[in-house]
Amino acid sequence: MKITKIEVLKVKTMRPAWRPVFCRVYTDEGIYGDGEAALAYGKAAEAGFSAVKEFSGMILGMDPLKNEVIWEHLYKSTFWGQNGGPVVFAAIGALDMALWDIKGKYYREPIHQLLGGACRRKLRSYASQLQNGWDWKGEDYHFQYTPEDFAATARQAVAEGYDAVKFDFFEKKPDASGEYSREDRHGFVVPRDLHTLEERLAAVREAVGPGVDIIAEAHSRMDAPGAIRYAKILEKYDVMFFEEPDTPTPYMTKYIAEQVGIPLASGERVYSRWQFVPYFEDRSLQIIQPDLGNCGGFTEVKKICDMAHAYDVGVQAHICASPLSTTAAIHLEAVLPNFVIHEHHICNRLQFNQGLTTEEPQPVNGYLEVPDRPGLGNEISEQAYRQADALAVVE
Ligand code: MG
Repeated sequence: MKITKIEVLKVKTMRPAWRPVFCRVYTDEGIYGDGEAALAYGKAAEAGFSAVKEFSGMILGMDPLKNEVIWEHLYKSTFWGQNGGPVVFAAIGALDMALWDIKGKYYREPIHQLLGGACRRKLRSYASQLQNGWDWKGEDYHFQYTPEDFAATARQAVAEGYDAVKFDFFEKKPDASGEYSREDRHGFVVPRDLHTLEERLAAVREAVGPGVDIIAEAHSRMDAPGAIRYAKILEKYDVMFFEEPDTPTPYMTKYIAEQVGIPLASGERVYSRWQFVPYFEDRSLQIIQPDLGNCGGFTEVKKICDMAHAYDVGVQAHICASPLSTTAAIHLEAVLPNFVIHEHHICNRLQFNQGLTTEEPQPVNGYLEVPDRPGLGNEISEQAYRQADALAVVE
């Protein structure tokens, strides 16, 4: 089998800041596979689109079943592959995801079966980023401000069957006057703001009781001194883990880990097996969150997760992309002995991220079902093609 053609598309959505980048890899046997670069949010979708397009030209004519050979070719022959960042590994990841979709369709097996076999049929999932509300089929985020808002949103998710919720308690100001600034978040963080965070967290704990896990997220926006003060508050409320306390670097993550008494999670801004090693070696992370779509795809991320297992480090996949990548993450998480919990982001419930794929996985009673269709079992929709504001055909 040979790769004959690759389409790359960047999709415009109702939310201007949300721009999924997809690829579809065609073969001479009539099988095609779909993949996605996880750069939908932020300012790299254009670069991701261009990188997928440029890398596509390097794999035409190759055997799509030889994912390791293609991965190594892209890593070593793109010049910027080695020790690359999110754009490079998004391009490799998108193409790799499509190759695994082809492999699954070729062998008529779901990807999880080819990765070693599912060790669970359902994935415990948490309602994520609830500071943006938990609307169903809403157009966009619905920001939460007061402790009462936070408590009500947590109750809403728990009423749907979730037994774990995640908030960034330090995003919007309590008087609805806007977002906390870089100045507010850097350095030590003033006691007034720490008090606001604690009021919100206390309200959530009071609302959900001890039977629900609370996860706290900081989006890498703080510095270590403030993050440590924040973590000391989180400890009091038995928070499950603290995600991205500051800019991910092995030496500062280790420093924070030594100061705080709750597990740390990070990884959506760490790329490739080589960049994860220091976090394992210094035991600073207890949960990693690699993104298939910006960390090199199944071929690379499965290796990283297996390395993590040797250090008793758990996994929650990260997904900055459409429901196509949610499906991909489910295949990966289904097979990992060290899977912890699946992050179900509010963006999966909103209109701007819907209609782009043929399947839209949603947890039922807090659990996501593992699909058994060949390959990914999900595809880029015709609507996504119609919404493309850039489409490249490489052949
Ligand atoms: Mg996060």
